[in-house]
Amino acid sequence: MKVQGSCHCKATRFEAAFAPESVTHCNCSFCAKSGALWAYYDVADVALVSREDERTYRWKTKTVAHNFCGVCGCRTFSETPDFSTGEPNFEKLRISLNARLFDGFDLDAVRVIEIDGKNGW
Ligand SMILES: [Zn+2]
Repeated sequence: MKVQGSCHCKATRFEAAFAPESVTHCNCSFCAKSGALWAYYDVADVALVSREDERTYRWKTKTVAHNFCGVCGCRTFSETPDFSTGEPNFEKLRISLNARLFDGFDLDAVRVIEIDGKNGW
């Protein structure tokens, strides 16, 4: 079943082909300050419906584009190379949507996976 989401002011809107079975909570210095729960998707499973007033923040290795709304400030989604092999694969991009922005989605019903971004990369 499709899920839809948007930032608070709806300048950023997206749709995912299916609801996530789990979300990740990252403890890196950026996520610790900005707060988000991430649902990871292949690019083909996400439709970025509106990216108005989007801003992008890159830090440390600069490999991941962290996007947020320039109007309301919500963290919206990130574009990241696939890291499943341990090395960044820029041929295979992934999108992580901030699951807190999904409409009508029960975040308490899914497993939260802790990732150690503070020490991981
Ligand atoms: Zn917004």
